[in-house]
Amino acid sequence: MGRLTALVLTLVVYLSLCDGAPTTASSGDHQIAEAYLSQFYRDNNATNSRSRTMFLPDLENELKVMQAFFGLHVTGKLDSNTLKTMKLPRCGVTDVAKFSHFQGRPSWKQSVVTYRITEYTSQLSQRDVDAIIAKAFQLYSDVIPLDFKQIYSGTADIMILFKAGYHGDFYPFDGPNGVLAHANSPGPEQGGDTHFDDDETWTLSSRDINLLLVAAHEFGHALGLDHSKDPSALMYPTYRYVNTNGYTLPRDDRLGVQALYGVRTSKDKPEPKPKPKPKPKPEPKPEPKPNPEPSRPEPCKRDLVFDAATSIRGELYFFKDGYYWKKGYYSGLSMHEVKSAWPSIESVDAAYEFSGRDISFLFNGQQYWGVKGSTTLPGYPKPITKFGFPTYVKKIDAAVHVKSTGHTLFFVGSKYWSFNERTAQMDRGFPKTIRHHFPGIGSQVDAAFENYGYLYFSEGPRQTEYDFSSKRVNRVLLNYGWLNCY
Ligand SMILES: [Zn+2]
Ligand SMILES: [Zn+2]
Repeated sequence: MGRLTALVLTLVVYLSLCDGAPTTASSGDHQIAEAYLSQFYRDNNATNSRSRTMFLPDLENELKVMQAFFGLHVTGKLDSNTLKTMKLPRCGVTDVAKFSHFQGRPSWKQSVVTYRITEYTSQLSQRDVDAIIAKAFQLYSDVIPLDFKQIYSGTADIMILFKAGYHGDFYPFDGPNGVLAHANSPGPEQGGDTHFDDDETWTLSSRDINLLLVAAHEFGHALGLDHSKDPSALMYPTYRYVNTNGYTLPRDDRLGVQALYGVRTSKDKPEPKPKPKPKPKPEPKPEPKPNPEPSRPEPCKRDLVFDAATSIRGELYFFKDGYYWKKGYYSGLSMHEVKSAWPSIESVDAAYEFSGRDISFLFNGQQYWGVKGSTTLPGYPKPITKFGFPTYVKKIDAAVHVKSTGHTLFFVGSKYWSFNERTAQMDRGFPKTIRHHFPGIGSQVDAAFENYGYLYFSEGPRQTEYDFSSKRVNRVLLNYGWLNCY
């Protein structure tokens, strides 16, 4: 079943979610939470592949990721708001597609995608179901150059059925409420297939579960979209009724699907997919430089070493020799000169994003700049002594802001420092030795960033994915793996 998370409910791990912490959750609630996290917040595909070895699930961390996804207070504890969110009716597709986000997104290559409804619900007339399903597809064909055609026999690209309980895959439905439907991402065989739980009460109105909204959400998956954290998005994981009169695809979903298929300009003549963007030309230099420009670094080398890495407004930035690669869910991968975005900065040694204030800091030698997106803020550069570094620190190797603690870690040689963003002061007792406090990541850090709740530390070409809450290395990667090299 492609990207649907394999249920590991058989391997029930009775770990307490809140050792010793005050909570109102009962043991039944804990079982609900464990099942929920294992179903929607564990990337079992990633667990099975690559170098990750079997490990016991870290429920507290999964809970934090879930709380962050829904914009809840991130405590790692099973509080009542978290439990309430877990009990909302929702889509059966996992919320943690993080490992596939960045590895080439599946999409349909043809311009006409066929679908077939093999089993109808008895709650609505077939005519109504046909009309609603067509309408759900049309929300997409209105904005992307893709057409959908219903067929009535044989194998369609997208096979659709309504059925309760066990229905032929490894993801049986769960009765009324809970999981409403699920769908596979595009691909051969079961790719795109969409199943609706026939224990739900399907309607064409605001009562119970509105079929158009759920179908449109599931077809988003069938076209290659993942869940969105944006509560106004159709691809938000939980069900919420909105008026379907004159309904069009919300902005977040439209941009997402157009990033995959391009923009429909004329209804009658579907446009070919957009060609890959040409690489940006280097800016013409006003005057010759004493030093020749560094040559553009090559992305697809196994021994690639990053100077710095950070997230900025939802995209990842990997810095190398005066250039950076930018990688986004919607925008894909591109390469730019640092100066083209921030003219006063030659190259970047370290960088971190303080997303709470929508500000990022870029470091070069003993100076740093505050930036908002590609805007350099006034008043910079400033000396790094402003952070409280002693003057013997000539350069920061890497920096990363840890959202869960509100502290920023700075790596210098074999030591690291911790900066309290709230009090704007360096924490006492630092620097400390990296090796002692971050076992497994190496003795130095060249680049560090946060992504989907994990920290990534690079030393040379080697990178570790680190779970900060459990102080454990999840897996070891190579830097170049982020740059679409297959
Ligand atoms: Zn979904
Ligand atoms: Zn199914």
